[in-house]
Amino acid sequence: MPYNSIVLVKQVPDTHNIHGDVMKDDGTINRAALPAIFNPEDLNALEMALQVKERYGGAVTVLTMGPPTAAEVLRDALYRGADRVVLLSDRRFAGADTLATSYTLKCAIQKIGAFDLIFCGRQAIDGDTAQVPPQTAEKLGIPQITYAETIVQLDANEIVVARAFPLGKEIVKCTLPCLLTVVGSANQPRPPSARKMIEHKLAATPLEYNTLLSQWQEFETEEKLDAYLAARNLKIPLWTADDLAVDANRLGLNGSPTQVYKVNYVVLETAESKQIPANAEGVAALMQELVKEYIVG
Ligand SMILES: Cc1cc2nc3c(=O)[nH]c(=O)nc-3n(C[C@H](O)[C@H](O)[C@H](O)COP(=O)(O)OP(=O)(O)OC[C@H]3O[C@@H](n4cnc5c(N)ncnc54)[C@H](O)[C@@H]3O)c2cc1C
Repeated sequence: MPYNSIVLVKQVPDTHNIHGDVMKDDGTINRAALPAIFNPEDLNALEMALQVKERYGGAVTVLTMGPPTAAEVLRDALYRGADRVVLLSDRRFAGADTLATSYTLKCAIQKIGAFDLIFCGRQAIDGDTAQVPPQTAEKLGIPQITYAETIVQLDANEIVVARAFPLGKEIVKCTLPCLLTVVGSANQPRPPSARKMIEHKLAATPLEYNTLLSQWQEFETEEKLDAYLAARNLKIPLWTADDLAVDANRLGLNGSPTQVYKVNYVVLETAESKQIPANAEGVAALMQELVKEYIVG
């Protein structure tokens, strides 16, 4: 039977490459100084949803909440095979902690409508809490399986999943609909398809129309561009708080009871790092040092 899946994805700063200039004086990250990428485990979540679609049929809808630039990850999802994407963007969503984020995502999922499976990354590499998916499942009143690595079995009412931990695996089952958080070892995400990139080259949210018009003057007006994109299914829906059945007090900063008390950060300067030659002598010298420092032994 076909399954309708929703994939929650987040655009994140590439925290693999943090260097001194990226940290602000108050200890927060200067996001503008880092490239924005698809949260890595969200690519694994998308891949798992696409594999379910290929095996059983159905459709994959990708949803993100973020600034207007988050449309980039939605285009990337279309290039990889998503059927439909939605951007949630509104100043009223800004400053959300995980409670407000999961509330907003839950309201958007309810607007999307009936679904069988929700796929999320296990954790985002910037906020790093791993709280958003469990909180979203709880608000939707559906079961969740975290750390999902393999779908062992899927039928009309039930899913069996292998969960992966550093020390072992666990096989669990639950009823549908349900939410899974997917680990990086689950699969190898497919690359964007060249054909789909060409097909979706112009896919855009209304917030990007000005940029498109400056590049493609032949569209002349926003109205003509909008009609052209809508007719070809290239208009990326943009939902604001006004499009959702929400309690405004539960959105963004207003709906975020968590306060950041203090931020500590550690930046490893190049001077503190050591290059180990990639040969047997280098490894032997490193081991000796680690034993001497009682780090291993
Ligand atoms: C105390 C506190 C204060 C914060 N204040 C701010 C702030 O002022 N401004 C700010 O921009 N951020 C703020 N954040 C960060 C913000 O809460 C998180 O970016 C957001 O709630 C997601 O949490 P996370 O990054 O830990 O995601 P995780 O829970 O680690 O993400 C796991 C998975 O959930 C899904 N997911 C997470 N976020 C989204 C999303 N936005 N859209 C779709 N799917 C998603 C993805 O599948 C992701 O892989 C704050 C966080 C905390 C803890």
